[in-house]
Amino acid sequence: MSTLKAVRGTRDLLPPETELWNKVEATARRVFARYNFGEIRTPLFEDTSLFARGVGEETDIVSKEMYTWEDRARAQSEKPQSLTLRPENTAGVVRAYIEHKLGETGMLQKLYYIGPQFRRERPQKGRYRQFWQIGAEVIGPASAGSESPLRDAEVLEMLAAFLHELGIRDAKLSINSVGSASDRPRYVAALREALQDKAPQMCVDCQRRAETNPLRVLDCKVPEDQPIIDALPKIADYLDEESKAHFAAVCAALDACGVAYEVNPRLVRGLDYYTRTTFEFSHGGLGAQNALLGGGRYDGLSEAIGGPKAPGIGFAMGEDRLILTLQAQASEAASTLADAYVAPLGEGMNAAALRLAHELRGAGLKIELGDGSFRLKKSFEMGNKLARKIILFGEDELASGMLTVKDFASGEQVKVARGEIAHFLGA
Ligand code: AMP
Repeated sequence: MSTLKAVRGTRDLLPPETELWNKVEATARRVFARYNFGEIRTPLFEDTSLFARGVGEETDIVSKEMYTWEDRARAQSEKPQSLTLRPENTAGVVRAYIEHKLGETGMLQKLYYIGPQFRRERPQKGRYRQFWQIGAEVIGPASAGSESPLRDAEVLEMLAAFLHELGIRDAKLSINSVGSASDRPRYVAALREALQDKAPQMCVDCQRRAETNPLRVLDCKVPEDQPIIDALPKIADYLDEESKAHFAAVCAALDACGVAYEVNPRLVRGLDYYTRTTFEFSHGGLGAQNALLGGGRYDGLSEAIGGPKAPGIGFAMGEDRLILTLQAQASEAASTLADAYVAPLGEGMNAAALRLAHELRGAGLKIELGDGSFRLKKSFEMGNKLARKIILFGEDELASGMLTVKDFASGEQVKVARGEIAHFLGA
């Protein structure tokens, strides 16, 4: 008899790793409590139509990734109910908001959840069929201020605080506006028209998306398609004055509290319910599945599933990916690799290179110093064994004050000003 194993795309979490999971969850609870969020726990399965209507029939999630089955009918005359393991939690939270008439309090509801979600995706590092999300939603009647751009900025500031408190370094925030319910159809029509000529030259997925859900074309990662996508109409040109002002106010509030971000006009995300602000935090250490978390505003979701008008904004973090990032950081910190290898180019540069190494060590960095008698190839070989990055330091660099730094893991080579280099290396 063959031995039984955990089903493809699912996994066991064992000690001591579970301690890290508990730490992540405790940090989330602690940070969210400071913003006065309360916990909600919704069922693991729901009526299938909740996701069809809430997430959108044409999304990848609903069209091909859900675990759906027909429940046995209670009586012969009854139609069997179609049930689905939740692929995400926002639709469930909004259903609960409607069912328990939380809007009638007249207050904003600030709810967070922690729990497993299920999607039949192709498993790979950071992508599983049962995965955990930590998410939160701010939802309520417009009279409670639920549409205010301040809510968007506050949620983003809370996320930045959470990642900081958890100790995740170098997470990158991208934001965009996908416009209101009236902007979006105009943009989608423009995209559809532009894609009529272009789609036949694109990948098969884009050819399908051009027909079914043109916004998803912007998510395509196929290198050959990128120049075509870059030349497509941009959502920013289709926003009405109100949406533009809303987005500008979000950006201004983020600037005011020092949350760094980048505007990415292609960030449309995979769920149909988003309106106006969309965002994502990514992390370079995660590889292909680099999204740590994603979210956005969903002003029409409650109405789409039969509830009252209840604008909202929320996010979901991939807990599995938070853990992967923390583990990678811990093993990096435990490694004996130096932060950088300073390679003097020629013996005449030795003394100046010693001076540079002295400055960087003074900033708390771990530095290996090569020797100007080494040929460039040998410096690279030695550097690769001893450090994460190499700094090339020759006459030109000394004169211009711009040093060449190469990262061994990513292969990326950049010029960095001498005064910036300690900061660049993580000091
Ligand atoms: P979404 O609900 O698609 O907006 O995803 C929000 C976050 O959940 C993503 O940024 C990921 O971090 C995480 N996530 C989504 N799908 C998976 C998956 N199949 N495996 C692990 N994490 C996932």
